[in-house]
Amino acid sequence: MSDFLAKTKAPRPGKCPVCDGAKYTYLNWAKRTEEEDSGRHYAASQLEFWRKLKIGQIYRCRLCGKWWYLHEQTQLMERVPADYQELLVAWDGGRFEPDVQMIAMLKKIGGLEADPYGNQKGIIRVPCCIVWANGQQSDPAVVGIMKHPMWGLEHRPLRLLESVLEVRESNFALSKEVRKGALQAEEVRMGFCPTRVQSSKGDVFILNGSADVFAYAGIKGSEIRLATSQFKERPEIVLSGTKVCEDWPITFVFCDWFLGCEELIFV
Ligand SMILES: [Zn+2]
Repeated sequence: MSDFLAKTKAPRPGKCPVCDGAKYTYLNWAKRTEEEDSGRHYAASQLEFWRKLKIGQIYRCRLCGKWWYLHEQTQLMERVPADYQELLVAWDGGRFEPDVQMIAMLKKIGGLEADPYGNQKGIIRVPCCIVWANGQQSDPAVVGIMKHPMWGLEHRPLRLLESVLEVRESNFALSKEVRKGALQAEEVRMGFCPTRVQSSKGDVFILNGSADVFAYAGIKGSEIRLATSQFKERPEIVLSGTKVCEDWPITFVFCDWFLGCEELIFV
């Protein structure tokens, strides 16, 4: 165990009212003193600064010792899942960048950054297959090149870009055309940004919001195109977030922002 981890307070048994459960995973740190929600106000008051990292800061909960990560630029305080602490320490102690060959493949596949509303600014996502040095594969994977790291609960499993033998194209990856369409889809009502897509057999789906990979009902991303079929008044399957990839965890592979990485973006 690293010195860093050894010095962290051992989590106390029992449920912490601040850190356990799904109640608060993010806090607006800049507005913590004006927070009207008394629960959020209390949660913020229990977090104390612990240490600065290469980017961002770690706070700890006074009640249970669990970690929270402060994004310095956005002043977003994000709860760090307990099993990500070791990963965060490893990230802080190194640089994680692709080599020249990997960059060439990532560029060929192409990456996307923020949507028209600025969501995900500073994160370039490239769907691919990763072959690790031990011969194991993560397929589908999404390499995330991050200016400001996100340690959120939505990225699971999360790994660092190290000990990688090769980056390959993945059959689960959506084409550039579909990814671009989904990224730029208009919000037709609150939280609903539909893109109609269809499989090579004509099954129609609605992607709600940005998507990088697809694995649903036995259909893979490479079989999906933007829909050309006539709209029919019938219920269509709406897929958003991780639902685009049922039964398959998407391995999120964390990479540091590097000089020239914006050349991977294709729109
Ligand atoms: Zn706590």
